[in-house]
Amino acid sequence: MEVKRFGVIGSGQMGNGIAQVAAASGLDVVMSDIKEEFCEKGMGVISNSLGRLVKKEKISEKERSGILGRITTTTDLNDMASVDFVVEAAVEQQDLKFKIFEDLDRICPPDTILSTNTSSIPIGRIAARTGRPEKVIGMHFMNPVPLMKLVEVIKGMATSDETFDITWALCERFGKTPARSNDFPGFIANRILMPMINEAIFCLYQSVGEPEDIDTVMKLGMNHPMGPLALADLIGLDTCLAIMETLYDGFKDSKYRPCPLLRKYVEAGWLGRKTGKGFYDYA
Ligand code: NAD
Repeated sequence: MEVKRFGVIGSGQMGNGIAQVAAASGLDVVMSDIKEEFCEKGMGVISNSLGRLVKKEKISEKERSGILGRITTTTDLNDMASVDFVVEAAVEQQDLKFKIFEDLDRICPPDTILSTNTSSIPIGRIAARTGRPEKVIGMHFMNPVPLMKLVEVIKGMATSDETFDITWALCERFGKTPARSNDFPGFIANRILMPMINEAIFCLYQSVGEPEDIDTVMKLGMNHPMGPLALADLIGLDTCLAIMETLYDGFKDSKYRPCPLLRKYVEAGWLGRKTGKGFYDYA
């Protein structure tokens, strides 16, 4: 099966990055969101990101307009009827993803592969909401998508080898390096990363250190390019909380309990960079 038309659900920070790399690889892309303004914002981010690549002379102005021209946006999920492969990158809420996959299963042709960029929700659970579980797979890009090399490819219990191979080849077409994970909560990346971020938030909660000190220790002491609290702000604190809850729910092990301070930040609407305030201020 040849993938020609590519669909992306959600035009937030992950969705617009995925749309950019897919269009840059030559695919025609349909990117959806629930409101026109969110689609426009997503297109603005892509346009700026490509503009930076032109400035650095990594692509030409002509290539930039070619990539932008291959992306169309929509607020109507029915427009996914023409795509061969979908990546769902809406917010990390299980019920929302269930609904989107039920709708996609009805809208898309039977051969269309339905993938999800979920950070932690089990692929098998999402696949079971469709009549094509063998064509459902996890395609977990890293943030920021245009810069980060890794894509975790997650095979659910029912995912076919053919679906896996097509997804793996697409990652390579996008210039990414895929890594395989089996379907356990958090997969590999967030099973390891998120408890570290959660522990850093506990350090702040218990006044072990200020945010700058916690991040400096991990940057200079462990050679991490970003400290865990700055990284949490980049990921989005709502997403971090949702992942910790999925880990806790999936393993029922207290080591995965979300830090109460993380919950308080999310309740306050302090979600990190995307709202201008998290563990740091982004004016
Ligand atoms: P985001 O909040 O930036 O964007 C989510 C977008 O989905 C929003 O624009 C929202 O309007 C849209 N949306 C909500 N309901 C929708 C629907 N029914 N149809 C279409 N669009 C809808 O979130 P994000 O950081 O881009 O995360 C998206 C997904 O990617 C989540 O599952 C998250 O766990 C995963 N993820 C995030 C990161 C990260 O670092 N932020 C990394 C890897 C994976």
